[in-house]
Amino acid sequence: MRITRKEGLELLKNSDLLELGRRADDERKRLHPGSIVTFVVDRNINYTNVCINRCRFCAFYRDADSPDAYLLSRNELAEKIEETLEQGGTQILLQGGLHPDLDIGFYVGLLRFIKGRYRINVHGFSPPEISYLAFRHDLTIRETLEILKEAGLDSIPGGGAEILSDRVREILSPKKIKTGAWLKVMEEAHLLGMRTTATMMFGSVEGPEDIIEHLDHIRRLQDKTGGFTAFIPWSFQPGNTEISAGSREQRAKNITPATAVEYLRVLAVSRIYLDNVRNIQASWVTQGLKMAQVGLRFGANDFGSTMIEENVVAAAGVSYRVTKQDIITAVKSAGFRAAQRDTHYHILREF
Ligand code: SF4
Repeated sequence: MRITRKEGLELLKNSDLLELGRRADDERKRLHPGSIVTFVVDRNINYTNVCINRCRFCAFYRDADSPDAYLLSRNELAEKIEETLEQGGTQILLQGGLHPDLDIGFYVGLLRFIKGRYRINVHGFSPPEISYLAFRHDLTIRETLEILKEAGLDSIPGGGAEILSDRVREILSPKKIKTGAWLKVMEEAHLLGMRTTATMMFGSVEGPEDIIEHLDHIRRLQDKTGGFTAFIPWSFQPGNTEISAGSREQRAKNITPATAVEYLRVLAVSRIYLDNVRNIQASWVTQGLKMAQVGLRFGANDFGSTMIEENVVAAAGVSYRVTKQDIITAVKSAGFRAAQRDTHYHILREF
């Protein structure tokens, strides 16, 4: 039976860790009885690091006049996609900052360029990028999505959600779109038949109530549209970010990265709370392979992506490099069957 917000909060705050894990594991088994754990072979391509939002938890962005600012050329992009395809990749995760000089024509050209040359799924442009484009061109979210979809955008990553609580967003990323706007982009995308993921970045300045609020927003929208394929909780990495640099918030809250136990609790509660979201990803990118293995007994059924390239978390000083074989070995040695999937969670190959 579906748990309430109050019950979710109680589980998050006070339950016995192993009991909680067992309950999440039961829920995983109910949804995925064959003990298959999936992963996707893809590459993160960050087409630009220029961003006007200057989120305080972000170590990736640069101002347009920074010596490290970049915008990938078509040749660089093509090279990255070809390498991805050579490694059996089926998807690119295409995301970037909110670059003040890029208009919608740039995005349409980029998508047409990719789709005209390669058979690859473009999982791209999270809600802040889409909202920014809509705002710049005085388009509705729906119109913006229709233009991007027509040019070749296949699905949308759940980035930019952080914590879907405006109280927290005001502290972490005051210039970023608020909760309602993030949900609006996802709802419109779902209504256009696009599939998206949902993420949550926890372990910064939020409290347990904010985490439950976030999960509740996702569950409600999923009840309405059914468009989320997966939920990905990952923990804040404070290295090289403004909020870690002796800021007022850090001193007040003494921000340290989420512990292993906190990670497992959030993962398990996510699995239990989101009874209508089929897939929960373990985050080896922030937790490492060993914790991700443990996560498979705390509700996760997916290892996310092989991430041939990852820049955003790496900018915060956290860099776990793994190969496809590392993932297969980790999954199998945790007692599961490993399978490569596509963006829509169809199994392509079992190992
Ligand atoms: S998190 Fe995204 S929106 Fe915020 S500064 Fe970084 S790149 Fe920009």
